[in-house]
Amino acid sequence: MEFQKRTITCGELRPKDAGRTVILNGWVNARRDYGGVIFIDLRDRNGVTQCVVDSSATPLLAPSIKDVRNEWVVWVKGLVRMRENPNPNIPTGLIEIIAEDIGIINSADVTPFEIVDDLGTNEELRLEYRYLDLRRRVLQKNFEVRNTLYQITHQFFAEEGFTEVETPVLTKSTPEGARDYLVPSRVNKGRFYALPQSPQLFKQLLMVSGFDKYMQIVKCFRDEDLRADRQPEFTQIDVEMSFVDQEDIIALTERFIARVWHEVLDVKLTMPLRRISYEDAMNLYGSDKPDLRLSGEIVDVTASSATSGFSVFTNAVESGGVVKAFVASGSASFSRKQIDELTEHARTYGAKGMPWLKYSNGEITGSFAKAIDQSELQAIIKNVGAADGDLIVFAAGEWERSCIVLGALRQKIAIQNGEFERVADSYALCWVTEFPLLEYSDEEKRWVARHHPFTSPMSADVALLTTDPSRARAMAYDLVINGYEAAGGSIRIHKNEVQNEIFSLLGMSNDEAQTKFGFLLKALRYGAPPHGGIAFGFDRLVMVLVGTDNIRDVVAFPKTTSGLSLMDGCPTPVAQSQLDQLGIQVKASS
Ligand code: ASP
Repeated sequence: MEFQKRTITCGELRPKDAGRTVILNGWVNARRDYGGVIFIDLRDRNGVTQCVVDSSATPLLAPSIKDVRNEWVVWVKGLVRMRENPNPNIPTGLIEIIAEDIGIINSADVTPFEIVDDLGTNEELRLEYRYLDLRRRVLQKNFEVRNTLYQITHQFFAEEGFTEVETPVLTKSTPEGARDYLVPSRVNKGRFYALPQSPQLFKQLLMVSGFDKYMQIVKCFRDEDLRADRQPEFTQIDVEMSFVDQEDIIALTERFIARVWHEVLDVKLTMPLRRISYEDAMNLYGSDKPDLRLSGEIVDVTASSATSGFSVFTNAVESGGVVKAFVASGSASFSRKQIDELTEHARTYGAKGMPWLKYSNGEITGSFAKAIDQSELQAIIKNVGAADGDLIVFAAGEWERSCIVLGALRQKIAIQNGEFERVADSYALCWVTEFPLLEYSDEEKRWVARHHPFTSPMSADVALLTTDPSRARAMAYDLVINGYEAAGGSIRIHKNEVQNEIFSLLGMSNDEAQTKFGFLLKALRYGAPPHGGIAFGFDRLVMVLVGTDNIRDVVAFPKTTSGLSLMDGCPTPVAQSQLDQLGIQVKASS
C-alpha cells in the first residue's frame, strides 16, 4: 500500500495542536505493548512523538502492527490529544497521537547498536554502519551546526563583496610539506594529477586576474599520518584579497569569527583578539597554538640557573641552551605515579628526563633536591615564583625543544587536574604572528618554508634573508582557538624576483623552480597586485562550535586514523583491466 505522506514532522506538535488530525512518517524509536494499548514513539530528525494504538477504539489496527520493531519505518494518521502522563523532558512530551490508521513503510533488521545519544559501542562498528550512527540525534545536531556555518560563511563573504570561484580538483603535483594524493591520467599515461592540498596557487593567480576578493568553501587533500583532529580530506574556507596588508586580513577574520560566535553560540567575543608573537607563544606556552584557557605560563630561569649547582642546569646554560620551568599551582599533591606519567610524557616530546621539585609545607623535595644545597633549592623556588603547595617541572637544553616539552607538560598537567572539564564551555582566541619564515630540515639538509614558499618575509627582515635566514620572520598569522589552529594565512610574495630568491634560498635550482612553479613565476611578471589571505579549517571550526575533540563527529563519512573508510572498505584494490588502461603496474601490495 502507498504510504500516507506526512503532514507534519515528529518534533513539532504542541498542546495548541490538540484536536488536529495529522500524519507522521518516521522510525520506530521504541514500542511498548500493554496488550490492549500499544505505544509507538515515532522519530525523525526533528524529534519524537508518542503514538497510541488503542485496540478498544480501533480493533483492526493493533494486529496490523504486531510485528513492528525498533527502526521500522511507519506512517501514522491520528488525532493530537493531551497526554495523561506528560513527559516534560521532550518538547513534544505534553501531547500524543491517538492512531486512526497506521501502515508499515519498511521493515528493519535488528540494528547492530541502539539508536541512542549515549552510546558505548566502539567506534569501528559505528563507522561500519555510519548511516545508522548518523541517525543519532547527537551527531545530527553537529551537522546542523555545520550547515549553519556554511550559510553564515556564504552570507558574510557575499556581504563583504567576495566572489566564490571554484578551483580545480585535478591539479599539478607540487609537494611542499605534506604528500600529495595522486590521480593517474589515462589519456596521458605515466602522468599524474594531484588532488589539491589547498587552492593556494590558484587563488593567487585569481588575484593576478583581478578578482581582488575571492573565497571558496573547498575540499583539500593531504596524505599525512592522521591524528584524531585530522582527516585525509578536509574542508577549508579559503580566502584571498588584493591590495591589502596583514591588518586587513586580521580585521576581516575577526568580523567573521565574531559573527559566527554570535549567530551559532550567542556568544559575544571581545575584539580585537590578543596577538602573541611566535617567540612569545613558545616562551610562555611552549606551543605555537597555545590553549589560553589553561592556567600557568612557562618561566625562563636560564640566567639564575647558571649558578644553581645542579649540573643538568649548569651544563645546559654552558652549552648555550636554556632552563625553563612550569609551576603547576597547587599540584604538590601529585603522586609518584602522576609524576612518572609526566616524565614519560616529557620523554615522548624529546626530553632526556624531567627534573622536578615539590614545595610542600615549607619543605622542598624532588628529583634533584638531594643533589644541591637547601639555599640553592630555595633560590630556585624563588626564581620560578613557586608558592607552597606547588609542583615545579623543568626542561633544560635547546630553546625550542625545552619550550615544546614544557608546553606538552602544561597540557598534561591540565588533563591530570581536570582543568579541561572546567574550561569546556569557554573560548580563548588569539592570533599568533611573526612566525619564522623558514626552518631548517635536518632530513632534507636545506631550508624549508614554515608556512609555504609563497609567504612574504616581514619587510624589516628582508636583509636577514642573505645574512641569517633563520631569524627572518614571515608576514604570517594563525588564528588559534582553544589550542587549535583554526585558520592560518599570510601576505604573499607578489614580485617575481623575490619569489625567485626565496626558491633559491629553499635550495631550488632555477630549472627546478621553473619546472615546479614556472606558471606562478610567469604570472608574477604580468602585473601581480600585492595580495594575501587566509584559510580556515572548516571542520575544526565546527569541532570547536559543537565542543568535540574528534573530527569524525563533524564529518559525515570520515576515514579512520589509518585512512580507511570502514563502511565501504576503501581504499580497495582495483581490477587489472583498470590498471592496464592507466598503464600502471602495482609493485607489491602489503
Ligand atoms: N593555503 C594555506 C593553507 O592551506 C592557507 C593560506 O595561506 O591562505 O594552509
